Amino acid sequence: MIVVRTEEEINKLRIAGKVVGLTHKYLEQFLKPGITTKELDRLAKEFIEKKGCTCSFEGLYGFPGSICISINNEVVHGIPGNRKLKEGDIVKLDIGACYEGYHGDSAWSYIVGKPNTKKDESLLKETEEALMAGLGAIHNGCTTGDIGHSVEKVAKKYNLGIVRELVGHGVGDKVHLEPDVPNYGKERKGPVLHTGNVIAVEPMLNLGSRDIYMLEDEWTIVTDDDSNSAHFEHTVLITENGYEILTRRDVELEEEDKKN
Ligand code: MG
Ligand code: MG
Repeated sequence: MIVVRTEEEINKLRIAGKVVGLTHKYLEQFLKPGITTKELDRLAKEFIEKKGCTCSFEGLYGFPGSICISINNEVVHGIPGNRKLKEGDIVKLDIGACYEGYHGDSAWSYIVGKPNTKKDESLLKETEEALMAGLGAIHNGCTTGDIGHSVEKVAKKYNLGIVRELVGHGVGDKVHLEPDVPNYGKERKGPVLHTGNVIAVEPMLNLGSRDIYMLEDEWTIVTDDDSNSAHFEHTVLITENGYEILTRRDVELEEEDKKN
């Protein structure tokens, strides 16, 4: 069952989503060569808790971090650790925050300093375009296939590999709920979405093939051919004529949260 959220639930989801957006903005200022992913994780946890939320991914299915940080050929679920960011790295921050039992989930890809290649730079632009195309298909009565089809069209246009094993999902009183929202599909196929449903759309696109595998840490997913990967995700509320992004990025940090 795909839950239709009440106004009260939606307000909590809006707060959780806003904190996720703010956390992205907060962390972005620290994405410099030399910082470790563990330090970023610590900063994220501190910030999320200061804003009255908990970290959705902390301990989720046993995850040993507060947020997921994946670099270059790592697609998703990277564990924060002693790895230091380098100039040109593609860093994916996947952040979840929970406010009074309701979650927000958003991943974004960043380049540390200057990109190593033009291809890396365009990978990010194109994957973000794929996310926005997927969101563009959303309205009351759309299907998950409509969304996947729109994402797939953009990925194919740019000849990017679409990760198929991992998908978007419903969001609410748990981070991962029904339905699955794949990044490929056929129009008018799949579950129908209605006003008041909340989902995360999250294309993961690779410069090379779509194939992936899991590292021995049993978390980190990497591309099979070592090519770089990008990940963009928003949690959205389905509305009558479209959607409302709950994990908006045009949020303003308070002065005290701005570095230096
Ligand atoms: Mg996520
Ligand atoms: Mg997600």
